[in-house]
Amino acid sequence: MTVRGGSVYLIGAGPGDIGMITVRGMEVLRRVDVVIYDNLIASGLLDEARADAELIDASKKPHDHTLDQRSIEAVMLDRAEAGLSVARLKGGDPFVFGRGFEELEACAARDIPCEVIPGVSSALAGPAAGNIPVTLRGVARGFAVVTGHSRDDDPITREDLAPYANAETLVLLMGVRALPTIVAHLRALGRAADTPVAVVERAWMPGQRQISGTLETIADAARTHALRSPAVIIVGDVSRAPERLASLNRPLAQQRIVVTRPDAAAGELCDHLRRLGADVVHAPLIEIQHIEPDADWTTHLSQADWLVFSSRQGARGFTKALRRAGLDARAFPQALIAAVGPTTARELEASGLHVDLIPPVYRAASLIDVMAQHVQPGQRVVYPRGTLARHELPDGLRAAGFVVDSFDVYRTELLEPDNRAREAIEAGVDAVLFASPSAVTAYVDAALPATCSSFVCIGPTTGRRAIDAGLTPVTIADTHTDAGLIDALLHASAEVTA
Ligand code: SAH
Repeated sequence: MTVRGGSVYLIGAGPGDIGMITVRGMEVLRRVDVVIYDNLIASGLLDEARADAELIDASKKPHDHTLDQRSIEAVMLDRAEAGLSVARLKGGDPFVFGRGFEELEACAARDIPCEVIPGVSSALAGPAAGNIPVTLRGVARGFAVVTGHSRDDDPITREDLAPYANAETLVLLMGVRALPTIVAHLRALGRAADTPVAVVERAWMPGQRQISGTLETIADAARTHALRSPAVIIVGDVSRAPERLASLNRPLAQQRIVVTRPDAAAGELCDHLRRLGADVVHAPLIEIQHIEPDADWTTHLSQADWLVFSSRQGARGFTKALRRAGLDARAFPQALIAAVGPTTARELEASGLHVDLIPPVYRAASLIDVMAQHVQPGQRVVYPRGTLARHELPDGLRAAGFVVDSFDVYRTELLEPDNRAREAIEAGVDAVLFASPSAVTAYVDAALPATCSSFVCIGPTTGRRAIDAGLTPVTIADTHTDAGLIDALLHASAEVTA
């Protein structure tokens, strides 16, 4: 054993999304001195490491060996022998094509304690992301997982695949580049041309895609769709299982829907759309940055009779600013709190702030109406907002007799879609969802197509911006929430189908 107590943890990070790591993996990641990480891990995971942890990139891309296996092991052992705790963070599971065992051996050879923390392998989570069960009663009694790479960089051979070829379910990792060769070998090894095949690309990551076909058609389909790594290939009848769901309650099946929300806020909406069967393209077109309010904001707070919030981001930016300043609800002892709608209210409630008022219609005008009925002359309203917030709310409240102090708690940056999202949108989509006028502006600035089956907007302001920008046709949600947005989308798509 090392005298100074260094140790190594081989941690499986799971595939794609930060939520796929185990609780134990996360716990260890948060406390180690050094993190040596591979390229297929969710980038957000590194933010979980201690701020003073040393982060070492060991990503190995084909033909560009940033750090070769020996150097990775050398660095890992070196840090551990110096008495440090080292997390060796690998995509998926460390023992599934992860060279985890070699690293475990290297530790053992030097008497360095090493603990393996398994992860969710993309071999299972990839198919699951596409609603494909690797075993299924009456369809597949078992599955095999095999690499689509040969030992060196040579093409994969028929012999490489022979022991696995006839598994009822065959899951292939690292197989995108060699897909045509793999298909030919499987055919030669006796699998029928009409064997179903599915490919799940970027499982649990933004831009997840799925294509399906048969051994005969899949290589062409992969080329047509410009399929790229990372992707999991599933060969066998289970690949067709998702079709059984299509007949159930999946009104958006076969529809490609673009979500333009920023990363942090898109998760729930994307999940919901996927549950309805949609093929979701997440193309964040804006980014929210929470900022420090002007210097005198805390003075305004202490005098406030009302705190008013017109967006979830305003609420979040405010609670963050409050926390950063070391304050809590005692900073506005006599204030009542109003939120424009339930999503904004939930954000406040999550930070322990009770919301006293939500207007019957989730719009600024309705909020002004209700507050105007309760106004006493001279009452002070504090309005934390975004830099692009409209003047309707403060103007309306002033007209109703309130004294309004506003300050900025977040800034909206417009983003260009990444290439993958742009390609998908340009190839044609069934709907684009906008939850703010700035996302519409970013869409138009990026010169994306001005027509699709429907541009669905969360409310009239966003809708107006879309109409003025020449997008067509525009559908506006009746209720200005995510649920309302989805309702409007379902409505629009039903009309198109009818
Ligand atoms: N240890 C990893 C596998 C490493 S090999 C695991 O258990 O998942 C790398 C291969 O894993 C990729 O070529 C791809 O086939 C697969 N893979 C990893 N992450 C993936 C993801 N998010 N979506 C689809 N496939 C993924």
